[in-house]
Amino acid sequence: MTSAERRAALEAVAAEVRTCTRCRLAEGRTNAVPGEGSPDTEVVLVGEGPGFNEDRLGRPFVGRAGDLLVKLLGSIEWRREDVFITNVVKCRPPDNRDPEPDEVAACAPYLKRQLEVLDPALIVTLGRHSMGRFMPGARISQAHGTTGPVDPASGARDATVFAMYHPAAALRGAEVERQSYEDVARVPQLVLDLRARRAAPTPQRPVPADPAAARDPVPDGTPALALAAAPEPAADITIF
Ligand code: URA
Ligand code: SF4
Repeated sequence: MTSAERRAALEAVAAEVRTCTRCRLAEGRTNAVPGEGSPDTEVVLVGEGPGFNEDRLGRPFVGRAGDLLVKLLGSIEWRREDVFITNVVKCRPPDNRDPEPDEVAACAPYLKRQLEVLDPALIVTLGRHSMGRFMPGARISQAHGTTGPVDPASGARDATVFAMYHPAAALRGAEVERQSYEDVARVPQLVLDLRARRAAPTPQRPVPADPAAARDPVPDGTPALALAAAPEPAADITIF
């Protein structure tokens, strides 16, 4: 797919999301929040679901958690428009409650289509709910800062998942915030490694039958090569 085709395909998904009534979350929303970012990115960030501010504006991560996410990205010299940011559910759960399993299931085809279009090398999960979609059974306290293979059934053909705490959790605790800066510092080198692996003629790490068995912690002390690994800057900001 060309960049223009990816942009159009993402806009088609977004248009469907904005009028979707597939689950009960449609009833309480002001605006659905399809997601936004670069159609050319190698990195997709997946949060849980829109909160108050996101519901009002129809854009992901624009409240306090979003401010911290932008700071985390800034610490590796990335901008939010260089990546694609979306959520597991596209409409705000009432009172910011956790999304129910049937709501997550109803919304899953949209995330799947976004991942099919973007074909990311890296999926960064933000928080437990998002992690649960890509690292079933993992515990966030153990899994944050580690990678695992992504099931191609997710829509992402050849991606690796990297788990991080939710920025809202980092706002509530200094230690989680410190860990989040440490974790995000690993992302640029990870992208470089994955880019090289995906360009290689034969896969160096086939997806095993048991994804949990292949989950490997990122070695400690990996230096971050922030500037070298930054994705191509987006020509403009696109809101999907
Ligand atoms: N929290 C999320 O999980 N997603 C958003 O878009 C905003 C806050
Ligand atoms: Fe549709 Fe997803 Fe919104 Fe439910 S949460 S109404 S499935 S877009």
